[in-house]
Amino acid sequence: MNGTPAMRSILDLAVSGVQALQPYAPGKPLGELEREFGITQAVKLASNENPLGPSPRVRQALRGALDELGRYPDGNGFALKTALAAHVQVDAACITLGNGSSDVLELVARAFLSAQSSAVFSAHAFAMYPLITQAIGARSLVTPAHRGERGPRYGHDLAAMLEAIEVNTRLVIVANPNNPTGTWAPAGELRAFVERIPGDVIVVIDEAYFEYVEASDYPDTVAWIDAFPNLLVTRTFSKAYGLAGLRVGYGVSQPALAEVLNRVRQPFNVNSLAQAAAVAALQDTAHLSASVALNRRGLQQYEAGFKSLGLDFIPSAGNFISVDTGRDAGQVYTALLREGVIVRPVANYAMPGFLRISVGLPEENRRCLEALARVLGT
Ligand SMILES: *Cc1c(COP(=O)(O)O)cnc(C)c1O
Repeated sequence: MNGTPAMRSILDLAVSGVQALQPYAPGKPLGELEREFGITQAVKLASNENPLGPSPRVRQALRGALDELGRYPDGNGFALKTALAAHVQVDAACITLGNGSSDVLELVARAFLSAQSSAVFSAHAFAMYPLITQAIGARSLVTPAHRGERGPRYGHDLAAMLEAIEVNTRLVIVANPNNPTGTWAPAGELRAFVERIPGDVIVVIDEAYFEYVEASDYPDTVAWIDAFPNLLVTRTFSKAYGLAGLRVGYGVSQPALAEVLNRVRQPFNVNSLAQAAAVAALQDTAHLSASVALNRRGLQQYEAGFKSLGLDFIPSAGNFISVDTGRDAGQVYTALLREGVIVRPVANYAMPGFLRISVGLPEENRRCLEALARVLGT
């Protein structure tokens, strides 16, 4: 130990990208609110979860999978990849499974970014993008969002994203729809964007809310992978399929890109319960349709509610909606907690006046809107 410099803190020992990291702030869990405020019967509308939960078929599949818990999961996810390949109509070699789609995003960053490269994404885009970029020590090139002239307010400005690409840029991420804004890019515009991305840049289209989108000009990007070796589409079972607690998502790309991601993947990154549940969830198309229909009505409920409160909101294609409280939303958030309603403040997304509210059951949405009216004194 001779000659060692003065004691450094453990944080000082971390690589510089990690030193600058702000950990991801998840939505407040119900149990925490109940512990802190002594409130029971609270509603959580803070993490874009499906209020119906998973299909009943999932429970059945999980019971069957329990018998095999002593064994490692199938590291290649054969059954789930086969089911997904049929579902999205690609070869199974095009699928990458992840411990949530966040895991797939992280695999991309680890495989393609370095301290010498950069990643491009939009302002107000999903918080995981700067996180995974910075953890590697790569630079984040964040482009301003639309202000409502050439595209939806707060939506990704794809032209600005193209312009931001530098020679050392290796990754571009588009959230479509984006969280927390709910904004999305139509097929024609997104296809033209992907066509202009240089071949040495990986372009990720994050479709965590794919199943909820009902617009006719929403793109079928999986059909584009044949044309673009650098394209990866990510989706998840956490949102519309109601499996957030199990952690399972996937990527779709050409096999060569999937093969690179497979090199950095933990061998058993998707557990056996998650794999069994995802296969079962895919089979229950009626549950998915019911979830999507419930969400559509919930969005209408919020839009009508916000209008009657005189509040501005961003029209959303996801299972959440961001509303402009017209004041410091952090205070509104805290006041709502006392009313037993957990929503999500989005100041960390450079939207300090907004709250993001996940669509719940009609009764939960009603409680949220009533609490909001009380808190805002309208
Ligand atoms: C929720 C979300 C994800 C991923 O969630 P996982 O649970 O890790 O699959 C990815 N992207 C966006 C934009 C999201 O909102």
